[in-house]
Parts: sequence; C-alpha cells; structure tokens
Amino acid sequence: MIDKSKEAGAKAVKFQKRNPEYKNTLYLDKDGVLNTAFYRSSKLSSPRNLDEVNIKQDIEDILIFSKKKFNLVVISNQPDISRKLITKEFINENLEIIRAYLPISIAIVCPHLKESNCLCRKPNTGMIQKFRELFPDNHESEIFVGDQISDQECADGLNIHFIKVDNPTSLKNNLEFTF
Ligand SMILES: [Zn+2]
Repeated sequence: MIDKSKEAGAKAVKFQKRNPEYKNTLYLDKDGVLNTAFYRSSKLSSPRNLDEVNIKQDIEDILIFSKKKFNLVVISNQPDISRKLITKEFINENLEIIRAYLPISIAIVCPHLKESNCLCRKPNTGMIQKFRELFPDNHESEIFVGDQISDQECADGLNIHFIKVDNPTSLKNNLEFTF
C-alpha cells in the first residue's frame, strides 16, 4: 500500500552546474533526446551504466539552437533511482558526458515510481514549475524538446511550445522554424 500523502510531498532532485544566464529556456528530455533510449527485455529503458550512454546526433542541432540564447535545462523521469537500479551519482556522471557536448546548466530529475503519484513525474508539470520558482527571470520564452507523449502532455499542461523528436530531420527543421 502506497502512502500517497507522503509521496505527494516527494521532491524532485536538482543537479546544478551553473545558474541559467538567459531569459529564455529550452527544456530537454534526456533519454531518447540527448542519449539513446533502448529496449531491454522488450521494455523501453534508460542507461544504467556509462557503457549504455550513447549520445544522439540531435545534440548538434540543440547546440546550434542554444546559441540563440536559451538556457538548456534537462527535465527527466528516472524511476530506476527508486528501483535502486541506478544512483543519483550515476545520473550526475551521465549528465557530465552530455555536458561535454552541451552547456546544460541544470537538470531536474523525478526519481519516483509512477505508483507514487508524485507531482513531479511527467506528464505532471512539477519539475518545470520548480525551475520557474527557482529562476523567475529565466523563462520568458520556453520550448520543450521530448520524444514521449508524457513530455508533450507536460508541455501542453503549461502551454509550452513542444517539439517532438521522432525522426532524424524533424528536430533540426522544427528548431529552425521556431525562432
Ligand atoms: Zn516525482
């Protein structure tokens, strides 16, 4: 039996490298956008060790776009933390690999299981609301890039323009025509 009252107060985890510097922010899902997601025992899965972190080609288009002065903020569900299959330290190492390519300022991560009914797990909007609270001057324009319906629903819930990564050319084209 899950204690919902306890989980409702559960907190997302923030990994901060530097303060966001621009007025505008590009929110990025991690698995399936920055590094590959893949099937493990026929279930969509995320990396659980550094050998499974494969950086996606899309990252080049995101880097070009970020030069239009957008903060890069990762917004990611990581229920494998609650399953004790990965640690917060592993997520930090995964982010450092991504940071070799992209100047990610902050990552906000939901470590909870779906059954926890927390407010942060996408499609809920708690992680973006947390970013907005922490940095009220850094979300004048917002865009969300993701690959899952839960990313789209999260963006829609806050009226944020959403770009779906679903084929190799769509991200580049969509980013080019956004601003
Ligand atoms: Zn959560």
